[in-house]
Amino acid sequence: MRPHKRTGTVYLVGAGPGDPELITVRGLNAIRTADALVYDRLVHPALLDEAPARAERIYAGKAPGSVAMEQADIERLLVHLAHRHERVVRLKGGDPFVFGRGGEEALTLREAGIAFEIVPGISSSIAAPAYAGIPVTHRERARGFTVVTGHTCRPDEMPDWAALARATTLIVLMGLGRLREIAGGLLANGLSAETPVAVISRAATAQQETVGGTLATIAERAAHLASPATIVIGEVAAIHERLAWYDTSDTAGIERMRAPFSDHLVALSA
Ligand code: SAH
Repeated sequence: MRPHKRTGTVYLVGAGPGDPELITVRGLNAIRTADALVYDRLVHPALLDEAPARAERIYAGKAPGSVAMEQADIERLLVHLAHRHERVVRLKGGDPFVFGRGGEEALTLREAGIAFEIVPGISSSIAAPAYAGIPVTHRERARGFTVVTGHTCRPDEMPDWAALARATTLIVLMGLGRLREIAGGLLANGLSAETPVAVISRAATAQQETVGGTLATIAERAAHLASPATIVIGEVAAIHERLAWYDTSDTAGIERMRAPFSDHLVALSA
């Protein structure tokens, strides 16, 4: 007989971006056997339907301008649920450890003595470029890639970004609302105005849209795009023109691909 376990296990699961089929098999199995599910805003609703009917479903996302639940409340909730349930799934868009605050939640669980597992997810930082036909590394064009958040693009940080962009593909999450600032900062730090840039909005959904340009033109060109969006800066961004493959007018199972982002749910990048 298994020893009696006082508390359940929390699974920090990455849901992947956009298309609900981009979750891992392990992630989907965790949802299908969940007693409770705590989910974020960028998680596709179809994935919630995969949980058993009896499972408790709790929304922990933040709506623009308001806060559904503070981070500390979410962490307390996970601990609380683990005392009541065998299997608690904490579901996040993309990967739980890439700007997902999964690390903080795992630390809280560890301190509380609660068992957890991390189920990595496909991060939008690589999936959005892939869905736009942009390889983040490419022979002779990019030896690596760097992922940063546009939320903290303070002017004094931009010299580092320019250096990173010279050596690698620079991928900016949560940056759409600051695109002009970001492009301007990189130009001010010596990047060429001709540096290719692509912005991919709502990747892997029926509303996906990619806009290409240069550091000089991108702010103007991408001004109409909706969040969530991923910004790709560097030589590889130009490959989009030759490798674009994802046709939103010809998507099998188009219903599945409807963006989960209703208009009041999409200000993460602002
Ligand atoms: N943990 C997530 C990132 C959370 S931060 C991950 O690994 O993907 C949220 C940011 O991710 C958004 O502001 C946007 O920059 C990016 N993002 C999430 N979903 C996206 C999508 N479908 N298309 C483009 N970018 C997306």
